[in-house]
Amino acid sequence: MAHILIHGAGLAGLSTAALLARDGHRVTVLERDPDRPPPPEHPEIAWTGWQRRGVNQFRLPHFMLPRWWSLLSTHLPGAGGPLAAAGATRLNTLAVLPEARRGALRDSDARFDTVTARRPVLEAALSAVAEAAGVIVRRGVSVTGVTADQRLDVPRITGVLTADGRSIGADLVVDCGGRRSALASWLPTVGARRPVEERADSGFVYYARHFRSPTGRLPEALTSIQQNYDSLSVLTLPGDNGTWSVVFTTGGRDGALRALREPDRWHGALARYPLAAHWADGEPISGVDVMAGIEDRYRRLAIDGRPVVTGAVALGDAAACTNPSLGRGASMALIHAVLLRDLLRETDPRDHDKLARRFDEATAATIEPLYRATLWYDRHRLAELAADLAGQPYRTTDPRWLASKALYVASLTDPELTRAHLDITSFLAQPGEVLGVPGVLDRVLALGGGAAQYPHPGPTRAELLDALG
Ligand SMILES: Cc1cc2nc3c(=O)[nH]c(=O)nc-3n(C[C@H](O)[C@H](O)[C@H](O)COP(=O)(O)OP(=O)(O)OC[C@H]3O[C@@H](n4cnc5c(N)ncnc54)[C@H](O)[C@@H]3O)c2cc1C
Repeated sequence: MAHILIHGAGLAGLSTAALLARDGHRVTVLERDPDRPPPPEHPEIAWTGWQRRGVNQFRLPHFMLPRWWSLLSTHLPGAGGPLAAAGATRLNTLAVLPEARRGALRDSDARFDTVTARRPVLEAALSAVAEAAGVIVRRGVSVTGVTADQRLDVPRITGVLTADGRSIGADLVVDCGGRRSALASWLPTVGARRPVEERADSGFVYYARHFRSPTGRLPEALTSIQQNYDSLSVLTLPGDNGTWSVVFTTGGRDGALRALREPDRWHGALARYPLAAHWADGEPISGVDVMAGIEDRYRRLAIDGRPVVTGAVALGDAAACTNPSLGRGASMALIHAVLLRDLLRETDPRDHDKLARRFDEATAATIEPLYRATLWYDRHRLAELAADLAGQPYRTTDPRWLASKALYVASLTDPELTRAHLDITSFLAQPGEVLGVPGVLDRVLALGGGAAQYPHPGPTRAELLDALG
């Protein structure tokens, strides 16, 4: 068993820490933000009072996908308690859909179960889970660099340096420092090559608002959580304790839609979408929060299969993050954390070279395809939004995009395909797996091929601009 230092107490850092501590490792998490989370039983203190400057998206909408819940409840079975104490909402993303669309429920539909909450509430609950597993979380400790054994060909990280001048040693350092992790800039200071990094603005902007129900009940889901329309997408996301959020996602170049930052116009626009308008029937508990400049980023601590350092791995957003409108970040981080936990079960953490190579291989085999699949979707959607802005139809020769559009349309009328589509959006299966089942693609194309680009009722771009004044 090893001493493992985790840099960053976000969703990735806390769940990784809890998984590793349950396996008997001595785990310490160092977090720059000083405030302690309130106990899970106080969700409103988490929402209004807990300061987390290190996480830009802390008060922006989050929804936990069924894949996340399936992993969490399997590998951290104690997590359900703090989440329930925090008032997190349990729901089945299929069951909430109109029965006319999904048909009668079946036993196998339990795979669409999930538990979700506003981000601060989730994080407070996960913090309690980590601490109950024996993790030491030190808050107010800023990591400023790494220490390394530089006598080796490939430097081996031996610990971290902190802003108060301390050096803390560890058998393994896990970078969970998020999208803006500085690990890449620390490595050259210990003689290591800079990691390979892909990085680009995802191109999307978010205009989001949180609400609370006057009755404690969530608005009825008339269709899918994510709805694509001319020029924007609408997301309707259940939260905890009778709260929820509504998000408009647009292309960053769409200057006319920047009017959505103003609450009156935001509401004026939402009122034009009949399947989502009633999600404004609650007490607003936030302003219209705007987030832009969100990067897609993929970082590997190896070049051509050769580690740039050993003794350190990057996980969660520090390794791979994308535009979050598909809501996959926490699930990807948890998949990655389980990979690390499993690898440490069969590889001695002090066998530094082997661990670094095998974690890189596992990341490339499992995380990279998920990252690329998300980017693939985003690139098409962004191009589609750009075409809407230009007043042109979106044309692509990519058959996979056409099949994915057809699947959505077909999922609106065919209960089997409702499930097939939900398997993809719940992150339980990839499009190729779903569409590769014999007969599925033919059925999808028969029911959804050649359908309208945007199947749901909603304003045209001109009508939307009119609503925005
Ligand atoms: C607008 C938006 C909406 C999102 N919605 C969803 C969603 O609906 N569903 C979903 O699954 N995911 C969503 N995500 C993604 C999700 O937030 C992340 O994937 C998830 O939080 C995992 O992040 P992380 O723990 O790797 O990083 P973070 O949550 O960013 O945590 C990193 C932590 O590291 C700390 N840190 C950084 N540097 C240092 C340092 N030098 N010293 C000490 N500590 C340091 C920071 O303070 C922070 O606490 C969304 C993201 C955005 C931007």
